[in-house]
Amino acid sequence: MAETPTFDLVVIGAGPGGYIAALRAAQLGMSVACVEKDAAFGGTCLIVGCIPSTALLHSSEIFERTRSGLAEHGIRTGEVSLDLDVMMKRKNRVVTTLTRGIAGLFRKAGVVSFRGIARLAGGTQVAIAGPDGERVVEAKNVLIASGSVPIELPGLAFDHERIVDSTDALGFASVPESLLVVGAGAIGLELGSVWRRLGSAVTVVELTEGVTPGMDRELSDFLRKSLVKQGLSFLFGTRVENAEVGGLGVRSSLRAGDGTQSVLETERVLVAVGRRASSAGLGLEAAGVACDERGQIRVDAHWRTSAAGIYAIGDVIAGPMLAHKAEEEGVACVERIAGVAGHVRYDTIPAVVYTHPEFAAVGLTEEQAALRGVPVRIGRFPFAANARARTMGEIDGAVKVIADAASDLVLGVHVVGPNASDLIAEAATAMELGAAAEDIARSCHAHPTLAEALKEAALAVAGRALNV
Ligand SMILES: Cc1cc2nc3c(=O)[nH]c(=O)nc-3n(C[C@H](O)[C@H](O)[C@H](O)COP(=O)(O)OP(=O)(O)OC[C@H]3O[C@@H](n4cnc5c(N)ncnc54)[C@H](O)[C@@H]3O)c2cc1C
Repeated sequence: MAETPTFDLVVIGAGPGGYIAALRAAQLGMSVACVEKDAAFGGTCLIVGCIPSTALLHSSEIFERTRSGLAEHGIRTGEVSLDLDVMMKRKNRVVTTLTRGIAGLFRKAGVVSFRGIARLAGGTQVAIAGPDGERVVEAKNVLIASGSVPIELPGLAFDHERIVDSTDALGFASVPESLLVVGAGAIGLELGSVWRRLGSAVTVVELTEGVTPGMDRELSDFLRKSLVKQGLSFLFGTRVENAEVGGLGVRSSLRAGDGTQSVLETERVLVAVGRRASSAGLGLEAAGVACDERGQIRVDAHWRTSAAGIYAIGDVIAGPMLAHKAEEEGVACVERIAGVAGHVRYDTIPAVVYTHPEFAAVGLTEEQAALRGVPVRIGRFPFAANARARTMGEIDGAVKVIADAASDLVLGVHVVGPNASDLIAEAATAMELGAAAEDIARSCHAHPTLAEALKEAALAVAGRALNV
């Protein structure tokens, strides 16, 4: 009988949480295996999430800009047309390059990879159902990083043709004439923006009263106005009750907050109301791994589950479903296993919505500070007053810094504007280092840069902004 291979760590799932954890564990000297059911490594993020989304967002933004945004720069163009097939192929190439890169990193680090569906098989044994049958590996520790899958709504079952999830919407073969997006969170707004730029009439229906629920209200409102100017339509305080596929499209029944019912017909419907933990089929119950009522694996502060030697990180546990959150947890978790003091500061995890303009945030919103009864001082600075934004013609948006009224410590930073996704890194680092608004305000920022808007917003906390 073949010997059961034994590893210090077996990671289930090669998404950003799992593959980064596997690499870090190998760096720390552990023998590591990673089991992935998909043919490629990278998980949701690389294959059907962040990477294909931002590739399409970038391509569609170039398309739109070339069609209508170059004349003011004195650049004349001829007729601009879309080759969606080429755009999709480019996106697929970006994904393939990055997923192959992980395979190379695994080889270099000595991480053993198994293709197959993993299941806890008693103690810390893991059974892997692969293309060539089932095998069992023995692990001193198991890390579950099995991620998440899209939520399906009652009355809106995915047929993956007309009623679709985000994965389907990343690969439409043609531009839908009209698209109903259910949910005005990051994924709905990003994919809605892509298809709107490529020519679709997009309506976003959202149950709450604004875009990007949970993010800073003032800047969310700013983003909403900008998206409306771009041609996205919104129905807020409205629920999509069900949808019927027929003829050339989908008839969706909507109910507004006041009870009014209406019907909207569109070529396709994208349901983007969030994701749920992918914890089914892992043999959790038999292994003694407890989940909460939402199916997320319960962990303690060091990502230990209720079963000895079994850990969990990323989308399959509670917290924001973000790639970098999964990565940080993966690193800190395996460091803990190795006896190193790994740690994640959850209050400094940034979040970004890759619309145009982008919306990036870290830390407390004004509303959260009020709810917690924390007295704050707020500094704001509009990109319209930032020289670099003017040179770029990208003046929509603002930076908002929220500081503790007593200590001046930065509690939150929110940015709607050009390159907000990059600008937020300075804010997150400042918060990680325990900076006060005054520290950012007194740090020399190169001129002319967008980052000067953050410095000015930090100055504005003390009423000392200079360029407004
Ligand atoms: C359209 C879209 C856009 C997004 N954009 C962003 C963004 O811009 N920024 C951001 O931070 N986040 C974004 N996200 C979220 C991000 O993709 C996830 O938070 C992240 O991928 C979670 O990482 P993870 O490692 O926990 O899980 P996943 O990436 O979901 O990986 C889990 C892996 O486990 C594998 N697996 C599951 N069960 C088993 C099993 N039993 N055996 C073997 N393998 C298994 C799966 O096949 C998968 O490869 C986006 C998501 C979507 C859908």
